[in-house]
Amino acid sequence: MPLFSKKEKYIRINPNRSVRNELPQAKPEVPDELFDKCPACKKMIYRSDLGLAKTCPGCGYNFRITAHDRLAITVDKDSFQELFTGIETTNPLNFPGYDEKIKTTKAKTGLDEAVLTGIATIEGYPLALGIMDPHFIMASMGTVVGEKITRLFEYAIEKDLPVVIFTASGGARMQEGIMSLMQMAKISAAVKRHSIAGLFYLTVLTDPTTGGVTASFAMEGDVILAEPQTLIGFAGRRVIENTVRETLPDDFQKAEFLQDHGFVDAIVARQELRPTIARLIRMHGGVK
Ligand SMILES: [Zn+2]
Repeated sequence: MPLFSKKEKYIRINPNRSVRNELPQAKPEVPDELFDKCPACKKMIYRSDLGLAKTCPGCGYNFRITAHDRLAITVDKDSFQELFTGIETTNPLNFPGYDEKIKTTKAKTGLDEAVLTGIATIEGYPLALGIMDPHFIMASMGTVVGEKITRLFEYAIEKDLPVVIFTASGGARMQEGIMSLMQMAKISAAVKRHSIAGLFYLTVLTDPTTGGVTASFAMEGDVILAEPQTLIGFAGRRVIENTVRETLPDDFQKAEFLQDHGFVDAIVARQELRPTIARLIRMHGGVK
């Protein structure tokens, strides 16, 4: 398959002589699906160079990745066993178009909800794992997300396992109203029971982690890691600026700013997360 197609540069008026075509369509056309433009360094990257981790080879920018790709670069091969599937998302407020949105998103992402939950091993250490996927309604937290994460903690308490959650979220799921806000308290109670049992809980904040997820379990980890340049916040920038009537710094709500202010323990490059998680589990009593 040709990578570039070029429009005819010359038009023939007389078969014996060519005249330069000045029309603008003489530019080469690049097929969209082969390249991604890095939003940080603005370079065009050949998509297969991005790899499964989807990190810009030029500047290290992390593209958003799916829960399944995250799983593949994080856990030991074939070690993942998915748990708590088959919990149906309902439409408690009869929100217009919500049922249809859930249906099409499920088909598009291959996920049953915005979080993938289960057990796995990382470098041989067993753990309970949750991975939120921003491709599923911006990983907003509705009742099913809340229920799956709560069950993950309850399972971990029963089996004496550490919990690792990769957070990503646009916040609570608007279409489920107060029901989604209740998940913050429900998950937090489960996190506390897991903590009282003396078990380790690690969160990895990925882009973007905002709203009710930040205001609950994302910030309740014993150790809180973040990927570089991750957007982390509760309310959006404009809302805060209008409320406090001040202009906020440019890097406000970036992982690096939050680390400087004590909200994040360490910023870890995507490729370093797997060994870092294994080391932290081992330091907190994990056994192979
Ligand atoms: Zn880049």
